[in-house]
Amino acid sequence: MRMMKFNFQVVYVPGRELQVADALSRRPQSPANVDSMVDELIKAVEEHVEGIRDALPASKDGLLRIKEATRQDLDMQELIRVVNAGWPNRVTQVVAAIRPFWSHTDLLTVVDGLLLRGHQIVIPKSMRKEMLKLAHDGHLGIVKTKKRARQSVWWPQMNSQLKLIVSNCTTCARYASEQRKEPLCSTPMPGRPWEKLGADLFEVEKMHFLVVVDYYSRYPKVKQLTGTKSTDIVLALKSIFSRFGILNVLVTDNGPQFVSEDFKNFSRTYQFMHVTSSPRHPQGNGLAEKTVGTVKALIKKA
Ligand SMILES: [Zn+2]
Repeated sequence: MRMMKFNFQVVYVPGRELQVADALSRRPQSPANVDSMVDELIKAVEEHVEGIRDALPASKDGLLRIKEATRQDLDMQELIRVVNAGWPNRVTQVVAAIRPFWSHTDLLTVVDGLLLRGHQIVIPKSMRKEMLKLAHDGHLGIVKTKKRARQSVWWPQMNSQLKLIVSNCTTCARYASEQRKEPLCSTPMPGRPWEKLGADLFEVEKMHFLVVVDYYSRYPKVKQLTGTKSTDIVLALKSIFSRFGILNVLVTDNGPQFVSEDFKNFSRTYQFMHVTSSPRHPQGNGLAEKTVGTVKALIKKA
């Protein structure tokens, strides 16, 4: 994590070739300094977990629960002990339960009671099912499901377990066939959920709705509107953002509600970029428009 910005190599140098360290590099760090380093490290872990929360729809206490599950897992505790003590020379010298970690020894670290494999949190057995379910949430198919999981978590066999779940899922299979039919998408894929959203309005039986769709997960949120003025849209968007967080980019059409001064002020206050599809490129807001079609069909069915 914090060390990831450095690309370093550990090279064995025989003792007789070592330089004598000069006074400065031997000067011990003061305890206060060490404390601040630990604080910084913990902060880095917390920030990382924030990132995980973004990537996986995990609850806020996710980190604490992973820590607690790690603490209660005897295999994980043995693994932590070995990581801290240093790995032996032969795989047969560690207990069977942690042998699957043998080929990852150089990536494993322990930070604040959590086991990390590079930037990924190693998930103890008791929480793996839950993580598989979270990664599979939204039925994104194998590639995206794997990508979503790998961004933040890891355990031995995670990939094959994800593959098994997705290959047994009919919804994912349908998604995969729809994906093939879609033309090449000209919009670059955002890097994480809730970064770029599309919004559009629609009407069913004289009721007005706002649909907001996430470009990453393609998950729609629908909100009934009190009216169709700018202020009504802003109110609805505020309520969605307060629950799911503020985005970076919002794509809409050139409807009067979206090009008004009120809306401009809103995007300025909430600090997101507002992109409107130009009349010459009506497909710019295609995702939101397509989602409106799907949602309308669902509402009418219900
Ligand atoms: Zn699925």
